[in-house]
Amino acid sequence: MADAAAVSAREWRRPAAEGWARAAGAERVREFEGVRGAVQACSADSRNDLIDTDFGMIISIASGKGGTGKTTVATNLARSVGFDVQLLDCDVEEPNAHLFIHPSFEETEPVFIPVPKVDESQCTFCGKCAEICQFKAIAVVNETVLVFEELCHSCGGCRVVCPQGAIREGRRKLGDIQKGHHNAIECIYGRLRVGEAMSPPLIKKVRSYQNPEKLTIIDAPPGTSCPVIASMKEADFVVLVTEPTPFGLHDLKLAVGAVQALNIPCGLVVNRSDMGDNSVREYAQQKGLSILMEIPFNRKIAVAYSRGQMLVDVLPEWKDKFLGLYNQIELLAKH
Ligand code: SF4
Ligand code: SF4
Repeated sequence: MADAAAVSAREWRRPAAEGWARAAGAERVREFEGVRGAVQACSADSRNDLIDTDFGMIISIASGKGGTGKTTVATNLARSVGFDVQLLDCDVEEPNAHLFIHPSFEETEPVFIPVPKVDESQCTFCGKCAEICQFKAIAVVNETVLVFEELCHSCGGCRVVCPQGAIREGRRKLGDIQKGHHNAIECIYGRLRVGEAMSPPLIKKVRSYQNPEKLTIIDAPPGTSCPVIASMKEADFVVLVTEPTPFGLHDLKLAVGAVQALNIPCGLVVNRSDMGDNSVREYAQQKGLSILMEIPFNRKIAVAYSRGQMLVDVLPEWKDKFLGLYNQIELLAKH
């Protein structure tokens, strides 16, 4: 049952958040700070009580730059919320969330994409397939049709325009998906085949397992290109993990541009926050971006990460901070 702190927190949280939504820029940040302060004033139990477990929210954890602590935030957030949660590792080129969650894997599924297969005995070498291909993935050279499978985007255009019906659908392996559980965490990750460049279809496949009844946390790949967009699209909230360095700020600006283009609310987590300079905070202030959490540099955290241990297991007081992060995300995403 909710205690008095939780009830009073509920009373203020809706009007405070609605007001926040109407406000803008620095005023928005000031008001948000008030909401955050009130959330942090609640006890850990009260915060648990504030969580709407029936809200199938999608939170994407991204960063412009690699190595900023994205996976640390994604895995510790999943561990801290304390109810059924899906953790989708969409960093398919080097998935590593499972190294911290240690799920028992129950299923491995190969993922394929369609590619054209040409029957040259039916082909008249008219060149129509090569004309329509926007990716130069099929070429007609004298009396040979060459298919460059790695360039093919599986649009099926060549098959549709072939007047001889000489193209049928073949397939090419992209990678694998692994699914498993550890306590309340359902962990699903994609692993791209070595040498494969086309990660968005595999990311979409990982995301096809999103359960609308559960909270879904997505560990996105670094950067701001197509794989990141595929990992953030249709999320309810994006957490951008950054660090207070010139490189961190440069890549953060690109990431904020991408999130704004998708029109998704976002907030920042500053990792190694006691190092570097103040430029990330100044940028956040200018842009009206909320800094939801700061993680200082701590040798214990670094050692735990290198050993595949969770931050909240090594320093249990951080569980409460990640719960506070979840509460702030929930407020911002809903309002
Ligand atoms: S469109 Fe069909 S018939 Fe024409 S070159 Fe391509 S595969 Fe051959
Ligand atoms: S399926 Fe599309 S991308 Fe692939 S070869 Fe045919 S036209 Fe090109």
